[in-house]
Amino acid sequence: MSEPVPEPALGFRAWAAPGPSLSLTPFSVAFRDWTPGPNRAVCHARPGQPPAHDAPASGCGCGLYAFHDPSGLTRAARACAGVVAAWGAVEVHATGFRAEWAQVLALASDLPEGPARSRVEATALRYGVPVVAFTHLEAYGREFARTLTDADGRPDGTPPALRPDALRCHDRLARRHPIASDRLYLPRSHTWVRIEGDLATVGIAAPLALALGFNPSIQVWPVGEVSEGAPLATITGRDGGVVALPAPVSGELLAVNRATNEIAPHAVLSQPYTRGWLARVRLSSPPSSLVAAGAYRDQLDRWLASPTPFRAAFGAVARPPRPTTPDLLPAFRRPRPPDPLPRAFASPDDLVREIGARLRSLLPRAAPALAQVGAVVELRHSAPDASLLVALGVSGRVAVLPGPAPADATISMSGDTADLLWRGELDVARALTDREIVVDGAKGYLALSLLPRAFA
Ligand SMILES: [Zn+2]
Repeated sequence: MSEPVPEPALGFRAWAAPGPSLSLTPFSVAFRDWTPGPNRAVCHARPGQPPAHDAPASGCGCGLYAFHDPSGLTRAARACAGVVAAWGAVEVHATGFRAEWAQVLALASDLPEGPARSRVEATALRYGVPVVAFTHLEAYGREFARTLTDADGRPDGTPPALRPDALRCHDRLARRHPIASDRLYLPRSHTWVRIEGDLATVGIAAPLALALGFNPSIQVWPVGEVSEGAPLATITGRDGGVVALPAPVSGELLAVNRATNEIAPHAVLSQPYTRGWLARVRLSSPPSSLVAAGAYRDQLDRWLASPTPFRAAFGAVARPPRPTTPDLLPAFRRPRPPDPLPRAFASPDDLVREIGARLRSLLPRAAPALAQVGAVVELRHSAPDASLLVALGVSGRVAVLPGPAPADATISMSGDTADLLWRGELDVARALTDREIVVDGAKGYLALSLLPRAFA
């Protein structure tokens, strides 16, 4: 009988060196390719038949397998190895386990620079995980999961609470979300405030990203006056999850961040302390409930240690009170404040000229590495809408193409994201996870792993 484990289990395993499809393919043909994000095991002991039982099961080879420790990886397995977190039902063996659920956390490879190594790095991008040194695999994995063979890894009497979701993994991720030390916080609403004289800038703290998931849409209620505890903004996240933020301060609403609200709402989650600010307020009275970063972190840790961590930490803002009509009326009578954050590019021509010039200066230098992509890749931009084509190794050419042409893959992003990307200031793996960059086609991931590196 497989037993659910109380915490995500740490495991190490290898896959075949990725081919052009950039997939993590198990060595055994009985197992399917891993997908980005959580994978659920299915028993295929009888090919072509419906699964005989839930995987894993004793006496059957099914389940997502991994070793307890990285020494289980042979030299031959080091072309594409990784660390995984596993949860749900787990069959534990002396050297490893077979699990119901697992997710890859990071990859490592001892391949030398070249096309095969590039494919491992592009695969890591596609799966939204970093490539780390072999010696760092274990330390990286321990941020999310725990070795089953740890003496303290399975405390007696711990209830099996994991199945089937990865909530506990999320708790650990919450602890890793940065809490900027140079501002004040209202813990129950996960909002931050930076006060300069009688002006307060307000935003959401990074841990709230967990309650929202990816791709938020934001509605700030610009009611002229805000009062502490009254609705300030509503943010809708993944799966329609909604967070209603009460204002952490009272005063006159001077500006809302239109760049965030209308153009790049993901900045609220990806750059919550900089570009993702929400509103500026002229304080009418000193805020009464704000605490320092350390106190917020302590409070968050206490909430996340509770039996229902999500409800404890985020429950206070999870149900939105809709603003009433009287709240909203002043918004219609009041001119919108000017956009405080200019976009990186004012027009499509602007973007094509600037990004095109940066690419043209780069391509000749990096041609040998880029030629291995063997595809025409369209760089598709929004805000402003503009498109660039790069031929990478097609007919021996590495070039920015002048006009429209059929592309083998697309990489889509906003003009602002492109600006950061080609300045070398973007965490590409994070941007993919947040869908700030969307890639269509395996060649797109390969291009994305090679192009920014050529700028460095
Ligand atoms: Zn089976």
